[in-house]
Amino acid sequence: MVTRCMKEGLVGGEGFAVDASVIKADANRSRSTAREGAEDLRDPQHATRAVREYLAALDAQGEPVTVPASISPTDPGARWTAVDGPAFYAYSTNYLIDVRAGIIVDVEATPTLRTAEVKATRTMIERVEERFDLKPERLIGDMAYGNAELLGWMVNDKGIAPHVPVWDKTQRDDGTLSSSDFEWDERANEYRCPQGQPLRSEWRTFKHPRTRITKANTIIYHASQAACSKCPMKSRCCPNTPRRKIARSVHESARDVARNIAKTDAYKQSRKDRKKVEVLFAHLKRILRLDRLRLRGPNGAHDEFLLAATAQNLRRMAKWLFSAQPEVTSMAI
Ligand code: SF4
Repeated sequence: MVTRCMKEGLVGGEGFAVDASVIKADANRSRSTAREGAEDLRDPQHATRAVREYLAALDAQGEPVTVPASISPTDPGARWTAVDGPAFYAYSTNYLIDVRAGIIVDVEATPTLRTAEVKATRTMIERVEERFDLKPERLIGDMAYGNAELLGWMVNDKGIAPHVPVWDKTQRDDGTLSSSDFEWDERANEYRCPQGQPLRSEWRTFKHPRTRITKANTIIYHASQAACSKCPMKSRCCPNTPRRKIARSVHESARDVARNIAKTDAYKQSRKDRKKVEVLFAHLKRILRLDRLRLRGPNGAHDEFLLAATAQNLRRMAKWLFSAQPEVTSMAI
């Protein structure tokens, strides 16, 4: 289907947009198992296809997984989710679209979990590159896709311009200085505070250099205690600590790329282009009426999402051909 759309000129390959939408699973919200009962699912008497798929996915991860507080014994792969009202079990359908005509170039079913949706973005981008030899110049997404790791991957590994708002928790709203009030000096590998004092990750040279990377993938830069103790701005900078510290993400340069893109006109256009995914999700729910799944398990969700996306592409292609090349379409009909 995507190959045909590419042939017909509906896929530009220049800009992709990504987003996820929550779809209710075929699992009754009143039938839940508490986290402690999850192990019971391994009992063969619960061995429905949806349960087997869930357990196989858990075992395939090979690392400890945080089991959610509430699990559906009917479809344990579905995630207990609340969206504007009482919680329910759901999956997310993740769309990667080409913004030229709004063609869905890939789709992925995931639990309704931001980390899973972000991971699906990488999976889809890689898969589209492998299958269709297509890699976008820009990727458009909302702030859910603006975390440091994904931005670092886009900019440094894939060479894709991130048209995504940066997920930034460093801004302070209590009147004290934020890290954006400090100037970064790439060559010196240090910040300069408003008083002109350096903040460094190391204040002396070690015989064996250390990476200083924390578990959160940051490097801590700090000012000298002597400078901060006599600084007139201390109450606005670090009122509760002897010296100012800034945690800099190892992907900060990629975050800066995204911040700079956000100031451009191209970014304004990308904000408009992003609506094309939202339109597809609205069509999926209101017109195709896929607001609740009929099949269970991750594979059931995948099959339904894929079929629905294919139907949407077919409809889009028919409209495109009809409006752009009426003579070709009428001949085909
Ligand atoms: S408190 Fe320290 S880091 Fe903050 S402005 Fe003063 S000297 Fe600079």
